[in-house]
Amino acid sequence: MAIARSEGSETTGGTAAYRWATWLFGFSVAQPVLVLLGWTLGIPILRGLGNPHYSIMPLASVLFFLVALGGLLAHREKRTAARIVIGVALALLSLQAFHYLAHFDLGLERLLFYRQVIELNVLNKGVPGTGAISMLMLDCAAMLLITSDAPLPRTWAALIASTGIGLTALTATMMLVEAPTQISPSFIGRSITTAIPNFALATAILLHVLHGRERREIGFEYRLFRRLSPAIIALPVFPSLLALVLVRDGGLGLNEAQFMVVACNILIVSLLLIVGLRGARQQNDVVRLRGEQLRAILAGVPDAVVVIDREGLVTDFSQAAAALWLVPAGAQGCNMGSYLGERERTKLMALVGREQPEFLLTGEGVRTNGTRFPLELRGAKFKGIDGGTCFTLFARDLSEKLAAEKHVAKLSAQLAHVSRHNAMGELAADLAHELNQPLTAAINYLSAVGYLLGQQGDAGKAPEMVSQARGQVTRAGEIIRRMRDFAQHREVRKHLEPLRPMIDDAIQLVRAGSDSLDVEVELAIEPAEVAVFVDRIQVQQVMVNLLRNAVEAIRSAGQAGGRIVIAAHPIAGDWVEVEFRDDGPGVPETILDQLFERFTSTKAGAGMGIGLSISRRIVEAHGGTMRAANGEDGGATFCFTLPGALHAAH
Ligand code: ADP
Repeated sequence: MAIARSEGSETTGGTAAYRWATWLFGFSVAQPVLVLLGWTLGIPILRGLGNPHYSIMPLASVLFFLVALGGLLAHREKRTAARIVIGVALALLSLQAFHYLAHFDLGLERLLFYRQVIELNVLNKGVPGTGAISMLMLDCAAMLLITSDAPLPRTWAALIASTGIGLTALTATMMLVEAPTQISPSFIGRSITTAIPNFALATAILLHVLHGRERREIGFEYRLFRRLSPAIIALPVFPSLLALVLVRDGGLGLNEAQFMVVACNILIVSLLLIVGLRGARQQNDVVRLRGEQLRAILAGVPDAVVVIDREGLVTDFSQAAAALWLVPAGAQGCNMGSYLGERERTKLMALVGREQPEFLLTGEGVRTNGTRFPLELRGAKFKGIDGGTCFTLFARDLSEKLAAEKHVAKLSAQLAHVSRHNAMGELAADLAHELNQPLTAAINYLSAVGYLLGQQGDAGKAPEMVSQARGQVTRAGEIIRRMRDFAQHREVRKHLEPLRPMIDDAIQLVRAGSDSLDVEVELAIEPAEVAVFVDRIQVQQVMVNLLRNAVEAIRSAGQAGGRIVIAAHPIAGDWVEVEFRDDGPGVPETILDQLFERFTSTKAGAGMGIGLSISRRIVEAHGGTMRAANGEDGGATFCFTLPGALHAAH
């Protein structure tokens, strides 16, 4: 039973055990051949298998030969041949059992070396004893059981084999310590060497079952057997000891004692099995339930989850994963590699092969129809039900994320452009305003100089030059005035736009711009599909300004959460009123009056103080108004109006 299994060397261990089992089966077949050779050639040492003073019964040897041969054939997967050979052995054994039960001598023993048997006075006149018959019948059962691939019959075979080992060990020990020989059941004969074939055969069965190639399939019964094996080996010793005592005290005859030992052993093993199997069944139920739970979770989970084994074979697909890869229902057992691009396939196989506990893989996924999509795979290792390594893969289709990022980048670029344009406009307006006075003064001075020169008579070319200078300065003034007009009345490209997507885009932009926007944004747009007649990008800039200001105000107050409500509803005269309300600290009272003037800012160094001024300018360019107020229970509210859908018609 001390067949250690080292983790990781399963394949080599299995092959070695398989080879050992072959050798042991072969040895078990060879030894009755030697005995029969001893009978044929009249060689006592062969006849007694090493003990020249004792002869092993020829019929028992034939039966043992058939059983061992059946075992070897079953082990080598010659199942039909094995069943035929064991069938013959069972038929002969049944005849023997009939002999004992019906007290009717069929004369089988007369077929084999009968004259020599009588001369040598072999026990039972060459007919195997009841103990041997029972034992050989059990061996037959074990051999038939290992012709099956199902785990349960194979476990039974192992149980029978271990009972055989236990009993043989007991009787062999009794012979070694020279306990009363009449209890040594005749199934192992009268010599310690005859115990060896029994050992060999039982061990071969055990090796075949426990470490055969089908070991992985054995599962629970295998583990159950591992747990029960010490009891299975130890407990049958007690009936033997009891029988020993009863025979010694004269209460029981040899035959009854042998029957008792075998019957008790079968009873004990059966009881152990019933108890153990019930436990295994419960465990199986638990596992089945867990499996069902897992399947239910996988069916319901909104994420794409795939479970694969160490070889990369898919064992489970969540419904979302099946939908992602367009895998038809029930199509499982495919290699995960076939759902990935070439590079990702190699990477995944490497990660899975070296049993990486956790990993993140990004690359390309390949759907069953051949289309490709950007994919992120997060893998985590776990131990499966059969003890093997498995991986859960959480898959994410990055198409939407990449598209959203592209969208945000485009919006940002548009906004930055408008921002620059607006800032330039502001600057131009300021310059125009500031330069207008000195230019007017210069024109006046030049007019005066021209007048004075005209009074003084001939002054050469000077009056003309002054006149030209005046002309140039007047032109410069005109240019600047036009520039200011243009900046102030920048052409607004208005379209009818639904309000909600504009707000969504603005929120997305602010989110993209801040590392972690832990501020909750609530929308209250009534009706949801309300549209406005505006220059979308300009108005979005207003919204982004207001949102950023609100977020910064909430953050500056060191508030943990924070909430911004964006409400919109139509008002009289086909206007839509939009309101940005936050629960930050509110606008400082000191700047509330000049809030919309340029360069009003409380953000030392961080703000320019032109955001609100530009925002109001934009709203006014649309014909709307903008105002700000502080709420009674704190927080700032910015309110502006935009032209409604009917404006588009005019
Ligand atoms: P900037 O943000 O560059 O300072 P703005 O014109 O956008 O310029 O804002 C001017 C000032 O108004 C800010 O510095 C800030 O003090 C105040 N402010 C704007 N929005 C809010 C708000 N939601 N809560 C409190 N104060 C605000």
